[in-house]
Amino acid sequence: MKTKECPSCAMEVDAESKTCPVCHYEFTNHSMGIKFVAILLVLLFLLYLIFL
Ligand SMILES: [Zn+2]
Repeated sequence: MKTKECPSCAMEVDAESKTCPVCHYEFTNHSMGIKFVAILLVLLFLLYLIFL
């Protein structure tokens, strides 16, 4: 069984689980999160250019 470390309580939990069984931390898809932040930064940059 693959495991991953919970960033909230540092427990080894099932890699497939969406939430930590110990502290109920919600695991998010990191690649999706980074993509979302990148898009947000680009939008902010474009708004900055428009209103300059
Ligand atoms: Zn946890």
